[in-house]
Amino acid sequence: MFFFFRDSVCLQKTASTGNLYKRSEKWYDINMCGIFGVYNVEEASKLTYLGLYALQHRGQESAGIASSDGAKIHSLVKMGLVSDIFSPDVFAGLPGRSAIGHCRYSTTGTSSIKNAQPLTVSYCRGQLAMAHNGNLVNADLLRSVLEADGSIFSSTTDTEVIIHLLAQSKKNTFEDMLVDSLKKVNGAFSLVVLTEKELIGVVDPWNFRPLSIGKKDNGYVLASETCAFDIIDAEYIRAVEPGEMIIINENGLRSIKPFKPQRPKKCIFEFIYFSRPDSYIFGQSVQKARKALGAELAKECKITAADCVIPVPDSANSAATGYASESGTPYEIGIIRNHYIGRTFIEPSQAIRDFGAKIKYNPVKEILNNKDLLVIDDSIVRGTTSRKLVKMLRKAGAKQVHWRISSPPITHPCFYGVDTPTRAELIGASHTVEEIKKYLKVESLCYLSADGMVKAVGGKKEDYCMACFCGEYPVEFNKEPDKMEFER
Ligand code: AMP
Repeated sequence: MFFFFRDSVCLQKTASTGNLYKRSEKWYDINMCGIFGVYNVEEASKLTYLGLYALQHRGQESAGIASSDGAKIHSLVKMGLVSDIFSPDVFAGLPGRSAIGHCRYSTTGTSSIKNAQPLTVSYCRGQLAMAHNGNLVNADLLRSVLEADGSIFSSTTDTEVIIHLLAQSKKNTFEDMLVDSLKKVNGAFSLVVLTEKELIGVVDPWNFRPLSIGKKDNGYVLASETCAFDIIDAEYIRAVEPGEMIIINENGLRSIKPFKPQRPKKCIFEFIYFSRPDSYIFGQSVQKARKALGAELAKECKITAADCVIPVPDSANSAATGYASESGTPYEIGIIRNHYIGRTFIEPSQAIRDFGAKIKYNPVKEILNNKDLLVIDDSIVRGTTSRKLVKMLRKAGAKQVHWRISSPPITHPCFYGVDTPTRAELIGASHTVEEIKKYLKVESLCYLSADGMVKAVGGKKEDYCMACFCGEYPVEFNKEPDKMEFER
């Protein structure tokens, strides 16, 4: 059977004239990551380790630290979790009072130490290390040009494109070389860059990904999320602004805005799913936004009578508290999530039904048995986990299951740094809410509207990137025909 993609909830350009976009088949690589940097602090690499520990939710595939002792950059980058990579003995090899760190999200096909960051290189002026969160949309084009000119790449990350551009820049200072290279790239970049003497933080003019500045004793800290400041007792100063470059060196902290200003397009999905609720991103509290998303959802879905509100842990915990208080329904912990799942687990040869879901979630039968439930989740991607969870809740004795989503249907993949599957795999791209309800086998299904989402997070709709919900990509690339068919 063939089907056409549905219009998305917040499409302003209609689907008939709108463009669909496709990942480049050539060497596309997702940079959904956590980045961190410190300047002029005691034990810089240990503080970076702690910062990465707090940012671990942003990427679990690989992690790394590069430190500077003032004359030389030292680095350690490995596959795995932060706590597995950095043992007490490695810090002697990461000396100095400044450092940067990176943790990288796991994606299919690109899991390789070659792509682990920070990338540390030597160039005509010395050494530099770079850690990147976000995705450049013209990286494949730039890479082709650079390769034709003789550049030899050692990874498939778009971050390396920035480094090659920088190395070729004819500008006189490092700062100007970096600006020169970043003016040639398009898309999402939040970067921390370390040289022997400086720490630089920079955010693209759309501000797709967050980056904040903190103060630690006589030094400074930069991090994707402020939960990384809390763990090292750093004081939050403010968010790095769209298109802002922060230069930290022996003269203190300086800010420049070297890029052509754009209308900011902060990733709204950071508030919905990606960031930790105890963080501030883009200058706003994630917890406050998430709770408001839940409350708004309760208002929009008109209150459905149920015995309790339960979240799909952990990403929907805060939204569920908002839903519970707005609807006056008791909040219960009905699903427990196991946090200690490694990358692989050994399945017994005798098949266990729904093993994939069981390894991560377990129902609290005491809460669920004979109950009508309002289950809150932050999003539906493919629908597969949600469907398994519904089955699990029923088996645990739930009478009615009402599914509530604190964001609109995801209809389009992200090309700016969040790992989403292709359009063909996104259930919200091809199915109506009624069809998804049937697929999940729930009594009712309700999504938050795009307007409700913006109202909850605060600010203007135009200031957010909502491409995954709308298909309106603020920075264009690889246009595809406006209608696509897929076999179901
Ligand atoms: P599914 O059941 O396959 O639709 O997956 C839904 C779950 O995936 C929700 O509980 C979300 O919290 C979670 N989720 C949403 N976006 C992502 C993402 N980019 N990476 C991993 N999990 C996600």
